[in-house]
Amino acid sequence: MSIEGQSPAKLANLVDTIGGIASEISKHPCVTYLDDVQLSDNLVSGVMKNAAVVACSDVGAWVPYVCSSASVKLFLFQNFGHHFESGGMVETIVGKGIQNVVVYGHSDCKYIKFLARPENSDKTKTEEQRQLYVAALESDSQAAWKTVGQYNVLVELKQMLADPIIGPLAASGKLNLHGWFYDAVAAQIEVFAPKIKAFIGVPK
Ligand SMILES: [Zn+2]
Repeated sequence: MSIEGQSPAKLANLVDTIGGIASEISKHPCVTYLDDVQLSDNLVSGVMKNAAVVACSDVGAWVPYVCSSASVKLFLFQNFGHHFESGGMVETIVGKGIQNVVVYGHSDCKYIKFLARPENSDKTKTEEQRQLYVAALESDSQAAWKTVGQYNVLVELKQMLADPIIGPLAASGKLNLHGWFYDAVAAQIEVFAPKIKAFIGVPK
C-alpha cells in the first residue's frame, strides 16, 4: 500500500479513526465476518434463507462478487453512499425476515470525493468524518481514500445498530450485519472481520 505524498502523522490519524469505530462495532455479536463465497454457497445450499446487500450506486450496475443466481433470495439495493434507510430497505428487512445484510463500499468512490469537498460539508454526518475528508483531500492518496471508504461502511453499520427498527432485530440474533469493500485497483473484495477489527482481503 503506497503512502506516497502523505505524512506519517496524517496516515496514523486516519488509521486511528477507523480503528476506533471498528472496535466499537466489533463488540456487537451480530456484526460477523461473511465473505462473498460464504454468502453465495449458503444461499444456494439453503443454509441461509435470504440476504440483502446495499451497495453504492457509482460502483455501477454490475456489483462485483454479489451472488447472481436467480434461484436465491437476495435483495440488492443501490444508492449513492450505500445508505440502508432509503428505497424501502428497512421495510424489506422487516417484511421479508431478512437474516443477513451486507453494506458494500468501494474504492475510487466519486460520491465520497464529492462529499469531501468543503462546499458539501453540510452533508457530513460527524466531525470525525469531516476530519477524515479533510485528511483524504490533503493527501489525495489511494490509501487515504480507501480508509475513508471503509470508514463509511463502518459508519453505516453503526447507524444500523442504532436504528430503532434494525438495532433491536440485530440485538435479538435474528439479523447479522456485514461490511464489504471492493478494491478496484487490486480487483479484490475485502471483508470486515470483527475478530481483528479490520477489513481483510478474501483470497481469490
Ligand atoms: Zn461510490
